[in-house]
Amino acid sequence: MSSNSNSERYSRQILFAGIGAEGQRRLSNSRAAIIGCGALGSAQAEALARAGVGTLQIVDRDFVELSNLQRQTMFTESDAAERLPKAVACANHIEEVNSDIKVEPKIVDANHSNIEALIADADVVLDGTDNFATRYLINDACVKNEVNWIYGAAVGSYGVTMTIRPQQTPCLRCIFPEAPPAASAPTCDTSGVIMPIISVVAAVQVSEALKLLTGDCKSLHNSLMQFDVWRNEWRKIALGSKLPDCPTCGLGEYETLNAESREFAAVMCGRHAVQISPSASASIDLEALGRKLASAGEVKANDYLLRFRTGDYELTVFQDARSIIRGTDDIATARSLYSKYIGN
Ligand SMILES: [Zn+2]
Repeated sequence: MSSNSNSERYSRQILFAGIGAEGQRRLSNSRAAIIGCGALGSAQAEALARAGVGTLQIVDRDFVELSNLQRQTMFTESDAAERLPKAVACANHIEEVNSDIKVEPKIVDANHSNIEALIADADVVLDGTDNFATRYLINDACVKNEVNWIYGAAVGSYGVTMTIRPQQTPCLRCIFPEAPPAASAPTCDTSGVIMPIISVVAAVQVSEALKLLTGDCKSLHNSLMQFDVWRNEWRKIALGSKLPDCPTCGLGEYETLNAESREFAAVMCGRHAVQISPSASASIDLEALGRKLASAGEVKANDYLLRFRTGDYELTVFQDARSIIRGTDDIATARSLYSKYIGN
């Protein structure tokens, strides 16, 4: 697009003193990685795309379902009907919002084997995940590689966010040495969540991203910011200095990046589902698998995944041989279904 139409597209943002023409130029040369494209990730992706951040990498392991639409603003009923992977559906909609920027959808589960590649080259990483295990993984990878990242979480009407600049600020592990009980007990799926708190948390995350990308670090909020839009509470806890003996940013141990800590199977955040990942990277011929399974149950497929229903279970299989098995919270049951129908 010509610079004339660009200055028209971004005119209100360029008028804003905090950004200006130079800030806009920096945004268009920037790369942001969004890890997890659910509610927060949707809001982040839309805002960063509209703001003209030049390259967006959207990482998500899941597909769109009807129950997502109440708060995951990048998705539509047809995405849910087609069960499109969230990364792909998000990239499709961004193309309609801003065709000038580059979007890279990645249908993968962020884990120890790929997280450093996923955040490499990013100027900023935004947390759109729903669990602390993945946040510690992002924290380890970002601190190790000195990439700025922005933590965010929301449950019920409550939300929290914090911006981590490795070695400049405390890291996630300095503030939460272990996953806080509030994050491990009720999750988005067991206690519900309303969209306004998503909008608030994502708005602060995106504002911080824009400050970082335009180089305005003095305007960062430098706090653990908490909100409750139902109880009408707002709190800003100033960050102290980083902990000298923090395992991550003090001692450089990065325990989640070790292969030994990899989980082959994981129960998914209140979904009554288990994710099974192959122990080594793999790819699977979904068409051949579909033919094989057709006699054993109902099979549906799109370009990215295959869904197989048998009895009370539903197996969704991705090209990387990963599967989300719905109908159980039991890892042993899920593993046996995986080996029976998919292999190994
Ligand atoms: Zn730390």
